[in-house]
Amino acid sequence: MKKTNKEIPVTKNETLEVEIVDFTHEGLGVAKVERYPLFIENAIPGEVVEVLILKVGKKFGFAKVLNWVTKSPDRVEEIDESLIRTGIAPLHHMTYERQLLFKQQQVENCLTKIAKLTNVEVLPVLGMADPLHYRNKAQIPVRKIDGELEVGFYRKNSHDLVAINDFYIQDKKIDDALVVIKDILKKYHVKPYNEADNSGTIKTVMVRKGHFTNQMMIVFVTRKKKLFNSEAMCKEIEEALPEVISIMQNVQPEKTNVLLSDEFVCLSGKEYIIDYLLEKEYRISARSFYQINTLQAEVLYQKAMELATLKPTDVVIDAYCGIGTIGISLADKVKKVYGVEVIKEAINDAKINAELNEIENIEFKVGKAEVVFPQWLEKGIKPNVIFVDPPRKGLDESFITASVEMKPKKIVYVSCNPATFARDLALYAELGYHTSQVQPIDMFPQTSHVESVALLERR
Ligand code: SAH
Repeated sequence: MKKTNKEIPVTKNETLEVEIVDFTHEGLGVAKVERYPLFIENAIPGEVVEVLILKVGKKFGFAKVLNWVTKSPDRVEEIDESLIRTGIAPLHHMTYERQLLFKQQQVENCLTKIAKLTNVEVLPVLGMADPLHYRNKAQIPVRKIDGELEVGFYRKNSHDLVAINDFYIQDKKIDDALVVIKDILKKYHVKPYNEADNSGTIKTVMVRKGHFTNQMMIVFVTRKKKLFNSEAMCKEIEEALPEVISIMQNVQPEKTNVLLSDEFVCLSGKEYIIDYLLEKEYRISARSFYQINTLQAEVLYQKAMELATLKPTDVVIDAYCGIGTIGISLADKVKKVYGVEVIKEAINDAKINAELNEIENIEFKVGKAEVVFPQWLEKGIKPNVIFVDPPRKGLDESFITASVEMKPKKIVYVSCNPATFARDLALYAELGYHTSQVQPIDMFPQTSHVESVALLERR
């Protein structure tokens, strides 16, 4: 024990001058003190900074900038540190160009370090013309601060809520709606949730807005089903915010990080909103996944379809299909589409979405992709092209083997996590599916999240 302590060259509360030499995948600056890494918020490679050591771990520590000795040309001068501290916009101290370069390098690092794929070209990231206020959905905790109900965000790695009015990357109309909702909740004395003893009523407010339709949905996540004055509150919300066409309640009694339970109640209006994506119409329920950056989702889908070079004779699978958006976007171009998704409400939306767009050559199935694929294989379904768009944990090995057994000519992989993406590309390469290029797309400007799409071809 003593020995390891001796090897750590820094101590808590010490100040020292360091040079930032790298980024973590979360966008923290990295400095090395005799090979011991320090992770530092709001610091960019090339900068020399005076830091205060906050935390000393066995393998790495955390520090905070007190002073900049030299500043990077990639730094934005005017910043709001609460956006970094809460993790809302952890990259917002960097110019947008630097953010895009950071993301391209993240993908390159994962491919070369995790997957040992050195022959894959990573293209420059497709960014947004206006990289602010893009989120069409908000999930905002409601807590008591100084005796008052407040909405905001947690300070990173803590349970302290920071009250926020300008969420910076959300659709401005969602920010405006949150102010109205907060005032109405206060007026009716709705008790904010208290994590410490699992008491109080309202835990989270979720707001979703159609980018092209402006239709809005509000979801109150509450601890108990009983929500006093809900009728009067809904009436006031609808009067103040005419774009609200759906007010839902989700009852989540558990003390948990899982935002939504399975229990939904429709308090007023419809149970869904409508929006458009690449000129197709979609119905979106509270429980369904929907891309949070509508304009970039269009860029992503167009790129994915372009990579697949679809033909009228193609049979296509849309795996991890959500409400069917990828499959429906391309159904007109091909013979047949099969979609699979694990959330039953999303598949319900997907089926209605196919009808709304008068698409008849598409079939959807509820289930885990890794379970449904072997069944489809047994049934003799032979896709030429498979689209996959899994959550952050990536693809199951059993899914990868089942997809390879279907012998598609092409697999188009859409990924929101370059680390699992790289791991999966390596396994596909072993099984004969090769990637020559990866196209990252910036779906989440100001944050460290990286979306990518790639074509895998059978050799
Ligand atoms: N392609 C869609 C959804 C992508 S998000 C779109 O672009 O909107 C990933 C989706 O995978 C989510 O809808 C999630 O519910 C679903 N999912 C997660 N695990 C799954 C699994 N094992 N099998 C099938 N779908 C899964």
